[in-house]
Amino acid sequence: QRKHRVAVVGSGNWGTAIAKIIAENAAANTAIFEEKVDMWVFEEKVEIAKDSPHHDPAFTGPQNLTDVINRTHENVKYLPGILLPANLHANPSIEAAVKDATILVFNLPHQFILKTCEQIKGKILPYARGISCIKGVDVNEEGINLFSETIGKTLGIYCGALSGANIANEVAQEKWSETSIAYDPPHLDSKAPTPQRSPSSSQVDLVHFQHRDTSGQFSTVKLQALPSEYPPINHDVLKTLFHRPYFHVRVVNDVAGVSISGALKNIVALAAGWVDGMGWGDNAKAAVMRVGLMEMVRFGDKFFGATIDQRTFTEESAGVADLITSCSGGRNFRCAKHSVERNLPIEEIEKTELNGQKLQGTLTAVEVNNFLKKQGMEDQFPLFTAVHRILEGNMQVAEIPSYIER
Ligand code: NAD
Ligand code: 13P
Ligand code: CA
Repeated sequence: QRKHRVAVVGSGNWGTAIAKIIAENAAANTAIFEEKVDMWVFEEKVEIAKDSPHHDPAFTGPQNLTDVINRTHENVKYLPGILLPANLHANPSIEAAVKDATILVFNLPHQFILKTCEQIKGKILPYARGISCIKGVDVNEEGINLFSETIGKTLGIYCGALSGANIANEVAQEKWSETSIAYDPPHLDSKAPTPQRSPSSSQVDLVHFQHRDTSGQFSTVKLQALPSEYPPINHDVLKTLFHRPYFHVRVVNDVAGVSISGALKNIVALAAGWVDGMGWGDNAKAAVMRVGLMEMVRFGDKFFGATIDQRTFTEESAGVADLITSCSGGRNFRCAKHSVERNLPIEEIEKTELNGQKLQGTLTAVEVNNFLKKQGMEDQFPLFTAVHRILEGNMQVAEIPSYIER
C-alpha cells in the first residue's frame, strides 16, 4: 500500500490555514498520507521586527519568507501568531512542491491560478487529483468556468472544490466552523474497454470516463486512473484529510453550487460593507444580503442549472453560511466599509490595510459583469450590476436601494 503525498499550492491567509489543517491530519493518519506536507510559497523577503519573539541576532535584515516559516513554524506575513505543525514544509519551488504529489490543494487568490497552473503543467503525476479552495470564477472570451474545471482541464486531472463559512484567522485559531467539500469525479465508462494495467504501478493506461460537466454535457475525458496501490481518493479520504475537531467537513457532489456561491458572495459582501459604512444599520445590510442570495441562486440556475443543486445555497456551509460570515467580518466587507467611512477607493484600503492579502470581490464583480453584459442579462442581476457600477465610479452607494428595487 502506497501513501498519498499532499501538496498545498499557495500560502496566503487561507492557504496557510488550510495547510495547517492538512499537515495536522497527515501526521494523524500516516497509514494513508505521507507525514511531510509541502506548501508552495510565492517567495518574498520579510523583515523580523526587533520586538518579535522570532527575532534572532543570527538572522537580521530581509529574509526569505520560506526560510522564516521553516525556522519559526509561523507564516509571519500572512498568518501571524499561529504555530504551524513541524511536518509542514514551506517550499519556494512550485515544481518541487507538486512533484510526486497525488493530492494537490489549490489555494491562492484567483488572479494567480492560471499562470501557476501553466508552470506545473506536465510536471505533476498524471493520476493526481485536485481540490480548489479558490473563491472566484474563471471568465474569459468563451464564457464562464469554475476554477476546479479550469484547473482540471489545464492539468489533465480531476479537481473538486472546498468552500465554506471560513474566515481564515478564526479557523487558524481553531475556533469551530463548518465547510463544504464538493467532489464528483467521472465514473468509469462502462462502454470503454477494461483498462489495462501494466505490471509496474507507475504505468497505468489511459482510462475513458463519462462525465457530465457543469453545463450538463456528457463528455468523455481521459483521466489516468490512480494506481491500485494507493487508497482510493473518495469522499472518505477527503474527509480524513480536511476534517478536524474544530473544522467540520460535509462532502457533497455539487461542485458548481459550492464554487459559485463562494465566488458570488464576495460581490454581495462589498455591497454589505458599503451599506454598513453609510451607517444604515443591520436592516439595510440584511436587505442587501437577501437580494444578493437571490441573485446567487439565479446565477447558478441560469448558467450551471444542469448540475447545480439549489439546496447547496441554503443547506451547506458554502452557501448562506458563508454569505453571513463574509458580510459580518470578511475582508471584502471590512475594506468596503472603510472605503465609505474614509471616502477612499477600496483599492487603496486593500493596499494599506491587508498587508499583501488580496480582495477577491472587486475583480469578481468586474468579471461577472463582463459575462452578464455579454449575455444581455445585467438587468436580471441588479445588485451585482450596482456593485460593478459603484466600483467604476458610475453610481453612488446611496442609489443602491432604488436600483435593486426594480
Ligand atoms: P491572500 O489574500 O492572503 O493573498 C496573499 C497570497 O497571494 C500570498 O501567499 C502571496 O504570496 C500570493 N501572491 C501574491 N502575488 C502572487 C503572484 N504573482 N503569484 C502567486 N501568488 C501570489 O490569499 P488567501 O487568503 O490564502 O486566499 C486564497 C483564496 O482563498 C482566495 O480565493 C480567497 O477568496 C479564498 N478564501 C480566503 C479566506 C480568508 O479568510 N482569507 C477564507 C476562505 C477562502
Ligand atoms: P474575504 O475574502 O472577504 O475575507 O472572505 C473570506 C471568506 O471567504 C470567508 O468564508
Ligand atoms: Ca436583458
